[in-house]
Amino acid sequence: MASVGFFGLGNMGKHMVTHLIAANHYLTLFDVDSQALNRFNGQKRVKIASNPAMTVEDSKFVILMLPNGRIVRDVCQSFIFPFAQPGTLIIDSSTIDVNTSKEMAKSAQNKQLRFVDAPVSGGVVGAQNGTLTFMVGGKKDDFQCVVPILQKMGKYIVHTGPNGNGLVAKICNNLLSGISMIGTSEAMNLGIKLGLDKMVLAKLINSSTGQCWASQTYNPCPGINPNVPSSNDYQDGFASELMTKDLLLALDLAKEVQIPIPLGEQAAEFYRQICSSGLGKRDFSVTFKYLNEK
Ligand code: NAD
Repeated sequence: MASVGFFGLGNMGKHMVTHLIAANHYLTLFDVDSQALNRFNGQKRVKIASNPAMTVEDSKFVILMLPNGRIVRDVCQSFIFPFAQPGTLIIDSSTIDVNTSKEMAKSAQNKQLRFVDAPVSGGVVGAQNGTLTFMVGGKKDDFQCVVPILQKMGKYIVHTGPNGNGLVAKICNNLLSGISMIGTSEAMNLGIKLGLDKMVLAKLINSSTGQCWASQTYNPCPGINPNVPSSNDYQDGFASELMTKDLLLALDLAKEVQIPIPLGEQAAEFYRQICSSGLGKRDFSVTFKYLNEK
């Protein structure tokens, strides 16, 4: 079984790691939040790194599940590039900007390291159930090497092309996901305010043309789907500030290639308002609560 270093044990990382432990891999874990890290204290085949470099030194694979590109760059430049053994394969599953990722891949190569971007879709529920979709950008050989590891945490592992392409796919997906979450919230809120029963409305949408992941699996209206953030006061999911980041990444990409994404612009502005209202740490389905209480 492989030795794996893992950075970032937040809402996603903590579940992903659990699957790797169950698959008998040897894990070395690091998070700047000691509470997140100590959750894994005492588990078999798990080392808690006392410093970030220790996560890397003996690991054949290093997985990153970090909030943004600035942090990924810092971790790569300060700890991975100087301390990793030649041939180490870095799997960055964070959602970050394409240019930073390509730059990290190039720097890794210059240091005889290997790098793939492998952002995920499926949310906290997918991470918990080990059913994530991984969108991998990188060399074919590197893709083939990471598949057995990623299969422990996900169901669909797709090679999208060279470095950066995984992120392009992920950012396009989240552009749509952000827009459809707002749309689902608007429709649910309007129907309920006009007197419809929330269960009846959700069931109808889910057997009609409005059906989407947000309505079916991750409904923003509390009490429709059990075990999703909306049924838990919008805690422990995909923070609205992270969705804002992803929509801004989509706007940047669209600007670069001069493609109009008018709904993406509005969605980014809507999530910016949600964050300024103090709901930035709540799951991105908090759009329903925000509209409902307006
Ligand atoms: P999170 O904020 O819950 O977790 C991030 C973790 O990284 C935290 O525990 C934080 O303490 C840790 N961290 C920050 N800086 C660090 C550093 N320098 N070294 C080590 N650890 C550090 O975020 P999340 O929801 O788990 O998301 C992680 C990434 O995955 C983001 O890029 C996000 O966009 C993406 N993502 C999230 C979801 C989701 O549903 N939550 C779904 C798909 C993709």
